[in-house]
Parts: sequence; structure tokens; C-alpha cells
Amino acid sequence: MADKLISKEDLNTLIDNLAKDIDVFAPVKKGDMYLYSKISSSKDISLNGKNTKKPLKEVFFGQSEELISFKTAKKEIEIIESEEDGKKRVIIGSRPCDAAALPILDEVFGWDYKDSFYLDKRERTTIISITCNEVEESCFCTSFGNISPSSKEGSDLLLTDIGESFYVEVVTDKGDAIIEGNSNLFKKAENISQKDKRQKEAVEKVKRRVELEGLKEKLDINFEDPIWKEISQKCLGCAACTYLCPTCHCFDIQDEMKKSTGKRVRNWDSCAFGHFTQMPGHQPRTEQFQRFRQRVIHKFKYYVDKFNKTACVGCGRCIENCPVNMDITKVIEKIVSS
Ligand code: SF4
Ligand code: SF4
Repeated sequence: MADKLISKEDLNTLIDNLAKDIDVFAPVKKGDMYLYSKISSSKDISLNGKNTKKPLKEVFFGQSEELISFKTAKKEIEIIESEEDGKKRVIIGSRPCDAAALPILDEVFGWDYKDSFYLDKRERTTIISITCNEVEESCFCTSFGNISPSSKEGSDLLLTDIGESFYVEVVTDKGDAIIEGNSNLFKKAENISQKDKRQKEAVEKVKRRVELEGLKEKLDINFEDPIWKEISQKCLGCAACTYLCPTCHCFDIQDEMKKSTGKRVRNWDSCAFGHFTQMPGHQPRTEQFQRFRQRVIHKFKYYVDKFNKTACVGCGRCIENCPVNMDITKVIEKIVSS
């Protein structure tokens, strides 16, 4: 699986060719934000914009996703399974942090119960990520050992802009298949030093860093610590941080009916909401600090206990989008130094 080069013009040709036969998703500018969207032409794509408002998880685990539909007639009910179209899919232009979040989600959706809706989409999708040209002040991906603006975790191909062309690093067989199927558009790799330079520059642009050493050990023993009330005081419980997080994966299932027809949908849910843990006659998390604590402990302890990695990739979306400026890196610093 040798590295390749593709000119910018040929990359557009590749995208246009792929979009004729399969579903292609890419960052698209919509108003003042970028969102992963299905595209039909390379002209729609923004590869150099800010990070997308919503994370890549949405392409695999929709914000609101129909699981089945049904019809009722007297005491009978007919269930209609939702069928995926089975089409191959390509994501082009995902940020390395978003791609790195996918193996984290894979663990959850493929662990005890195999979530066919998610896993089927993952199987059919090739991820072509791009080394970040710009980073946000809130990015702190390099605090995690295996993630950076040019890391390959979760990607099948990684593109790095080296001027007239993109340097293409092949990560998996899926990525190699894209090259094999479009070999006339790819050339033998050269300018590896230029690629290394661009990647080094990208890594150096990430200024924010958080020290994770000692965090897990603190979280193992500080469940009852008064610090949770102190650090979560401002939290409104709006759930922006969890909805926009590429690794948060909680959902709720609802049946929506209209007369005799209906559908069963699953919707993103959040541990930040008061009703999230409401049970008949019992609410184990009555105060917001308990919900805030759950979010942090889940990402940096429970997930680590279960899968031996953190459920955060340092994308910074929760910092960018919190209406009261809660900052997960400051929260971690306070816990570690408490
Ligand atoms: S975005 Fe901020 S205010 Fe909203 S739930 Fe998250 S931490 Fe709390
Ligand atoms: S917790 Fe915040 S920084 Fe970490 S992956 Fe989620 S949104 Fe990104």
C-alpha cells in the first residue's frame, strides 16, 4: 500500500466520479457553519473551512433515525423493517479528530449488542481525512498520544495539502481500493519532505494542551468530592456539549404515531438532561452537578475501565459551543490538581 499523489484537479474529478455511483459526504458551508452533508459535485465541498459544527458521528448514528415503521389495524400490527439502500459511501475531508472518534464509537456499538444500523454504515463507508490546514483555539487533540491534526487513527486514506497536489497516505485496504479503482488519477508519491513539513506545522498550531496524567486515578476515588459542585456550578444542562461531541453516543427510542401508522425512531439523548435518568418513582441524578460529573467520569474513567482508552479526542467542540463557557480542559486541570 504505497503512498500516492493526487493533483487538486484530479481530486475533484475523483469526487465527481464517486458521486455518480455512491454516496459521498463532505464538509459543506451552510450559512456561517460547516456541516457534513451528502454532495453531488466537488464544487459543493469546503476542504479548508473551520471544523464542522456537528461531528462525523451523524453520518453513522443520525440525530434522529428511523428503526422500523408500523401499521395498526384493529388488534393487528404490521411491522415494516427499515431497509438501508446498501450503497457504498465515502466521507471526504473529515478532520483526523473526527475520524479518531469512530473507533471509540465502534467499541460501543459493536460490544455486547451488535448495532446493525451503525455497523452496516461503518462497513460500507470509506473515510478520506485531511490534515488540518487551520486549527481552532479550542483544539487540544495533541494531548492524546495517538491523535493530532495529521493522525491516521480511524481513517482509510489521509490527504495532506502540499500546494498543487495532495499527498495521499494509504492506511487501510478500503483506502487502497479507492486508489485501485481510480488509478489513472493517482501518481507515484514524491515530496515526502513537503508532506512532513506541512504535518509538523499543523501539529505545532495546536497550542492548547491538557495534562491527562493522574486524571484517571483521581476519578477512581473522587465521586463524592465537593469539587464536582464547584466546577459544575455554571452548567445549564443544555446538552450542547454532548450533542456536538463526536464520541457521545446516548440515545432514546420513541414510537411516533399518526392515526394508524407510526415509526420507531432513535434520537440523540444526553446525560446532561434532568429527565435522562428519570425512572418511575425514582431519579438517581437529582442535581445538575451529578449529570456533569457523569459526563466527565464516563469519558475519562468508565470508558477507560471498559475499553482502555478515553472517550474524548480533543476536538474542542464542547468548549466552542458551551453557552456559559465551560471548558473541559480547565475542568480536567482542576480535578488533577485537587
Ligand atoms: S454545553 Fe455547557 S451548559 Fe450546556 S450542558 Fe454542556 S457544560 Fe452544561
Ligand atoms: S469531550 Fe469535548 S473535546 Fe472531547 S471529543 Fe467531546 S466535544 Fe470534543
